[in-house]
Amino acid sequence: MPRPIEALIHQPALAHNIARARASSPDAQVLAIVKANAYGHGIENVFDALRGADGFGLLDLDEAQRLRDLGWRGPILLLEGCFETRDLELCSRLKLWHAVHHEQQIDWLAMHKTHEPHRVFLKLNSGMNRLGFTPNAFRGAWTRLNALPQVDEISLMTHFSDADGARGIEHQTAVFKEATADLPGARSLSNSAAILRHSKDPAVRADWVRAGIMTYGSAPDYPEHDIAHWDLRPTMTLRSKVLAVQHLKEGDSVGYGSSFVAQRAMRIGTVACGYADGYPRHAGHGTPVLVAGQRTTTVGRVSMDMLAVDLTDLKQLPLDGIGAEVTLWGQGPKGAVLPIDEVAQSAGTIGYELMCALARRVPVHVETLG
Ligand SMILES: *Cc1c(COP(=O)(O)O)cnc(C)c1O
Repeated sequence: MPRPIEALIHQPALAHNIARARASSPDAQVLAIVKANAYGHGIENVFDALRGADGFGLLDLDEAQRLRDLGWRGPILLLEGCFETRDLELCSRLKLWHAVHHEQQIDWLAMHKTHEPHRVFLKLNSGMNRLGFTPNAFRGAWTRLNALPQVDEISLMTHFSDADGARGIEHQTAVFKEATADLPGARSLSNSAAILRHSKDPAVRADWVRAGIMTYGSAPDYPEHDIAHWDLRPTMTLRSKVLAVQHLKEGDSVGYGSSFVAQRAMRIGTVACGYADGYPRHAGHGTPVLVAGQRTTTVGRVSMDMLAVDLTDLKQLPLDGIGAEVTLWGQGPKGAVLPIDEVAQSAGTIGYELMCALARRVPVHVETLG
């Protein structure tokens, strides 16, 4: 028998979440962002559920190839554009749209031999200072692209640094509006946080929204809001089982470094899940977990292959708890839910990082559309 750990990818939840993006921006087209292997879910595992999107956004050319291999003929946008000249050949062959964020990418296009001109997304650095032309250089870049026979349509995009937080997006939308004022072309500004928090403004919804983390059932502005607030559903469940049960006396310790010491008699379960499965080692004692659908917490340090959970106050566990189902995050039995955001917060990180870090050794199964 294999180790009892597995990940489940929930296609019904993916379809629900992408529909939420569409409902928030009914007049915009939706790009489902599937970079990083669909945020750790596996592009092949999510594809059927996200077919309702108008296009896909990603970074790696081999991921674009995989989407074409799955039969997707619609739009695919390379969010970082090309990394070297010859990437343009694949863009021509696979009909990829690509971001243009620096002058060299325009030089490559100018030298590129293609029968079919490309659609590009010219990126403005409106304040995030990661990728894009400065407002001063933006118009010059647009003019250069517009003169190239290799370029057919120029769309305009930018990315928000604070759509999830207090600073918000106004400073960046003002820069975007000014830099793009009289330029033609479709516009794309919003990531998940902007879709959920700022989509009242039609200029923010614009023509294309880019739905990433919300598609995968994590709230971009947790803990201010959780997935229940945004009506999102977990799309990845990590689950395992209790392998062993230990009965502790007051003063007994648990795990490496004896970092946890029992203050009372306790019953704890040893679970087949550790940091080599992608569970965060930094999740301290007290991280939430479900055992047989009942909420409890972890105890002591996470080791490579195992972690401990507190079973002391749990009811109705057959065999003292051995073999009980443990939900590390996601959808538990009997409708119980443990949002990945809660586990991430206990580990000092965000849901994005946990889902992307699911380890290769964890077998993945897919709950298909019903
Ligand atoms: C990753 C990414 C997104 C999606 O962001 P989420 O916060 O996951 O919604 C959108 N646009 C660009 C350019 C990105 O790199």
